[in-house]
Amino acid sequence: MSKKDFIPDPNRNPYRVRNSPQSQNNPGNPEFIDFNTQRVCPSCGGVIKITHNFCKYCGVDLSRIEAIGTADEISKQLAITAVTDPNAEVRKEAVDTLGNFGDTKVLGVLTYVMLHDLDPEVRREAVDELGDLHHPYSLEVLAKALKDESPEVRKEAIEGLKKIKKKVKEKKMEKGKASERGKVDDKEEEDKEEKDKEKKDKKEKDKEDKDKKKDDLEDDNKEEFLL
Ligand SMILES: [Zn+2]
Repeated sequence: MSKKDFIPDPNRNPYRVRNSPQSQNNPGNPEFIDFNTQRVCPSCGGVIKITHNFCKYCGVDLSRIEAIGTADEISKQLAITAVTDPNAEVRKEAVDTLGNFGDTKVLGVLTYVMLHDLDPEVRREAVDELGDLHHPYSLEVLAKALKDESPEVRKEAIEGLKKIKKKVKEKKMEKGKASERGKVDDKEEEDKEEKDKEKKDKKEKDKEDKDKKKDDLEDDNKEEFLL
């Protein structure tokens, strides 16, 4: 593509995607993320500023995914527990509960746990919940979990990918059907319009004919008069 062909897209990420996430800097360190000022990209796991609507690492649009830091207090506290509690069982419970919220706002924290928690059981739980949430953004990051050192996590990642792929496919099919229906509706609408137009044309033609007859009659009368 030449430079001339480049048309800037206002919806595209304004950052140049160059760096890979620096998430491996400090795995498992609870101080690493502050949900009040930071959010986690659910697609690549990168930690970015809470105010950013696009991920500066992978470029995805996050404007329609609420950051946990700006969510309700309960979700936020649970997210902090999921990341900082010293007990693995507690972290796992927090992850489980967050997943049950079924909301996109928890994607970031689940992704973070999946990539950083030191306990494989907690990571596995996070993968499980991500799979259940069926968000297409999670596909990329679940692929990373395929390289997890724990076979349990790797197995769960495969399950998760399967679940999301299936859901995405179903949605596409539903969409396809809907647009097909849309076409039928459009056609009916067109037919109706055409009929209306025909009717209107006919009326106008009838009127024209009448007017013409009237004129002719008048002309006849005139002629008669002239004669
Ligand atoms: Zn990202």
